[in-house]
Amino acid sequence: MSIKILISPSRYVQGPGAIHSLGEQVKTFGQKAFITGGKTALKETRGDIEKSLKEHNVDSVFEVFRGECCDSEIERLKAAATAAGADFIVAVGGGKVIDAGKAVACLMNKPVVIVPTIAATDAPCSALAVIYTEEGVFDRYFILPQNPNLLVVDTAIIAKAPVRFLVSGMGDALATWFEADSCAKSAAKNIPGGYTTVTALNLARLCYDILLEYGEAAKLAVERGVATPAVEKIIEANTLLSGIGFESSGLAAAHAIHDGLTVLEETHHSYHGEKVAFGTLAHLVLEDRPWAEINEVLDFCTRVGLPVTLAQIGVTDPTPEKIMRVAEKVCEPGMMVHNMPFPVTPQMVYNAIYGADAIGKAYLAKR
Ligand SMILES: [Zn+2]
Repeated sequence: MSIKILISPSRYVQGPGAIHSLGEQVKTFGQKAFITGGKTALKETRGDIEKSLKEHNVDSVFEVFRGECCDSEIERLKAAATAAGADFIVAVGGGKVIDAGKAVACLMNKPVVIVPTIAATDAPCSALAVIYTEEGVFDRYFILPQNPNLLVVDTAIIAKAPVRFLVSGMGDALATWFEADSCAKSAAKNIPGGYTTVTALNLARLCYDILLEYGEAAKLAVERGVATPAVEKIIEANTLLSGIGFESSGLAAAHAIHDGLTVLEETHHSYHGEKVAFGTLAHLVLEDRPWAEINEVLDFCTRVGLPVTLAQIGVTDPTPEKIMRVAEKVCEPGMMVHNMPFPVTPQMVYNAIYGADAIGKAYLAKR
């Protein structure tokens, strides 16, 4: 049976100053909010969150997130939220705290509200948490029974964050269309275990088109700390379009190569979306996509400042032993690379990684 499934968050609220409507948006979830976020994110937002919740008679309990979305941190937050008698969870910040918040809410069977302060990944919309080890190595995907109940995306806050986050989000969003297209070709199942819909496939394509059209303008605006209409579109593409696109169309080689690269310690300083951008280039090489398309991606990446070589993601000494270690991780059973429209072996991934690095280097040398 070819059953199609599309999943998405229940409510998506975006705009400058959106955080001031948080209380209004959450008032049906209960009277006590357990709010977790990184130190910086909470410092910037705590006052506004508390004020908005108070206006709607919701109490706030804050707990600083310790930085890694790993089992021990999820357990610690769950214990704190339970002790506080939380009616719902609010996760404020970037990908890791968002994933941790979703996991905690799922384990407690409570609603979860996401307040992204950066648009660096497509984590906010999904019913998926990426669990790492305490050392930051990819461990597993935790599939949640439902998507976040609410997203409140304040574009004025996101526009003031360092531009590298927005650019990294574009790297994550760049993979969405190519992975969706590969999954559609192979009739691979999407994250909720169904086949893709024309809706999700076209949202993935729209995500790519918006990146090409508005990516550079958005990057330039955020360098000045302002949210122009181009920034609004890119935040929506990075967060909503990429989120629905990847989740309801499926992941493939680009993310599997990202996950494989995390076995190399030297890649830990580059962001998720930066590694995904290089993974996308390797995906295109692996799938033998047209040269014009590869050049379009290279041009986009270099215009917005995304990496196209191994050195740019920290692998300055890519020995055959290291790259084979990555390739073997990429091809482990259950990895998303097996959603490609053909069988993939470690040797093929090894070749694609070196092939992408060579193309990226040659492109940079020509500029
Ligand atoms: Zn991603």
